[in-house]
Amino acid sequence: MDADVAVIGVGTMGSAAAWQLASRGAKVLGFERYAPGHDKGAGHGETRIFRTAYGEGTEYVPFLQEAKKLWRQLETETGNNIYEETGRIIISEKKDLETEINGANLHNLPYELLDAQEASVRFPQHKYEENDMVYVDPEAGFVRPELAIQAASQRAIELGARIYCGVSVTAIEPDDAGVTIYCGEESFRVGHVVVSAGAWASKLLPQLSLPVWVERQILVWYRAKNPDAFTLENFPTFAREREGHRWYGFPSLDGDLVKVAFHHGGDTVDPDTIDRATHKEDTELLSNFIERYIPDLDPNPVKAKVCMYTNTPDNHFIIGPVSGLPNVTMLGPMAGHGFKFAPIMGKLVAEVATGATPALNIDMFRPDRLIRV
Ligand SMILES: Cc1cc2nc3c(=O)[nH]c(=O)nc-3n(C[C@H](O)[C@H](O)[C@H](O)COP(=O)(O)OP(=O)(O)OC[C@H]3O[C@@H](n4cnc5c(N)ncnc54)[C@H](O)[C@@H]3O)c2cc1C
Repeated sequence: MDADVAVIGVGTMGSAAAWQLASRGAKVLGFERYAPGHDKGAGHGETRIFRTAYGEGTEYVPFLQEAKKLWRQLETETGNNIYEETGRIIISEKKDLETEINGANLHNLPYELLDAQEASVRFPQHKYEENDMVYVDPEAGFVRPELAIQAASQRAIELGARIYCGVSVTAIEPDDAGVTIYCGEESFRVGHVVVSAGAWASKLLPQLSLPVWVERQILVWYRAKNPDAFTLENFPTFAREREGHRWYGFPSLDGDLVKVAFHHGGDTVDPDTIDRATHKEDTELLSNFIERYIPDLDPNPVKAKVCMYTNTPDNHFIIGPVSGLPNVTMLGPMAGHGFKFAPIMGKLVAEVATGATPALNIDMFRPDRLIRV
């Protein structure tokens, strides 16, 4: 055997899994077609929102509480500043805040609700509509994605993992005794495989006919006219819903530019042929929103980047063993909202891959709810 466990795709989820597997004393091999921290997948663009009150479902809250502890642990183990707790506001009609409010009440999470008038005093950078409500989550913030992925990979290596960069896995052949991994002509034999290939998962496992689709997403940076209003201290991460569009943004990291993006609304693409250039029509609508709702930002985009969501039919993750594929554990696709969970999902999958019972029940993410081999 070349290793106890191989991790295929050392991006967001794979780097966390490699770190957690190596922490458990497993002999780990990682395969990454680019290099940890690259900008061709889903783990780039300077910031990812972390939040504990969760509109996607209150059942996510225990995972998020553990994830935050593990982000802090990764900071301690590597000496990096990965998670920034700036707080977060959601600007929306009250009916659209119910899941957050219910989840916060159920799990005793702190929050405040402001009406438009109160919010315009507290967060004057935003312009509000009359019926807007603002949910304030003081225990939210953002993770630095490239740094997080590089830190987790590096820590895995320090703990004994071997990570091959610039190497694409072309096929895997699982059997009852282990898994054979093919990288072109070369092959490896391991006890167990964790598949964390993100947007490429369907290509690696075509036999699963995964019901997922890859969506092109655009991140856009705007210049602050008044940079002091957009610092980490003054401008919490935000999410906003209006006219059927959901968009979100972050405080300025460099005292100059503020990153803003739409959530969904992109074209369905193939990860190997996606258009990675950005065009005027990619940013036009967002720039109109900026002009209308955050007038202290110059609505002319300074730069933009392309990224990919890998969506699932029920918007939940695909995590766990797959019947018919022995010794394989799926760690994603992550349905466009997975970054914040990386260390806890990496830990739970490390437990599964090494024969332990996961500390939290991952049944709601089981692959077999969506696929059959
Ligand atoms: C624009 C954008 C904004 C987002 N914002 C947020 C947010 O604010 N908060 C949040 O929690 N989540 C957010 N997400 C979602 C989150 O970033 C993703 O859910 C997460 O990064 C997915 O991780 P992954 O490991 O599945 O994919 P990736 O990080 O893309 O990792 C997959 C890796 O597998 C490698 N790979 C693939 N196939 C092979 C192969 N055959 N051989 C070797 N290597 C291979 C790839 O090169 C890649 O490195 C956002 C996503 C995008 C695109």
